Amino acid sequence: TRKQIVAGNWKMNGSKELLSQMSETLNSESFQADVIIFPPAMLIEQAVEKGLTVGTQSVSEYKEGAYTGEIQASLASSLGATYTLVGHSERRALYGESDEVVANKFAHAQEQGLTPILCVGETEEERESEQTEEVVARQINAVIEKLGIAALANSVIAYEPVWAIGTGKTASPEQAQAVHKFIRNLLSEQDEQIAKTLRLLYGGSVNEKNSELLFAQEDIDGGLIGGASLKPENFLSICKSAK
Ligand code: 13P
Repeated sequence: TRKQIVAGNWKMNGSKELLSQMSETLNSESFQADVIIFPPAMLIEQAVEKGLTVGTQSVSEYKEGAYTGEIQASLASSLGATYTLVGHSERRALYGESDEVVANKFAHAQEQGLTPILCVGETEEERESEQTEEVVARQINAVIEKLGIAALANSVIAYEPVWAIGTGKTASPEQAQAVHKFIRNLLSEQDEQIAKTLRLLYGGSVNEKNSELLFAQEDIDGGLIGGASLKPENFLSICKSAK
């Protein structure tokens, strides 16, 4: 059985005050799931000091150098971050990250000791034209082609349909489960053990009301939470709903 993950992606939101409130709320409980916070990079060190499991929202694909404004994986790791998101749809759409760049980031993150959470998902237009499986497969295969299937052993995949992100339109448990099952089958064609053990998260308008049903689906191993991860009480309920 796979231990579930509840991950809170703060995006460009939050503050030192929110971090204090969040850590007080989370530290007073214990969970069956692994709980991970992805705060803005400037709060990573403080989040680690407060005892949270922490990741970066993005990392550079390069080791170091003249890349103004980028996040250095080795530094994040030395500050205590243990995960990173790669290929979040906002990075792909707003900052032009291609499948190839995402694969490079995935590789570099692992080299520096960060566990990548590879984000994949289709746009509304792609879903309507029945390209969901093709898009998700292409995004995952870009990593497999570059690094080999074995690289996925130490990673997590988050399925986040773009049309469900920040829109209040959640994929139904059945819709999400169908894509998760597709992803697990895709992996099992190459490596059954990885397919069985890799944790697949759902993201897109998850809240304290819908999380329990989503997380109860056979191939859904927790969630990647945006908006609802900014409210300690709501995020706490979501964390408690994961098994
Ligand atoms: P929302 O939960 O706000 O829809 O965001 C999902 C997301 O993008 C998490 O990475």
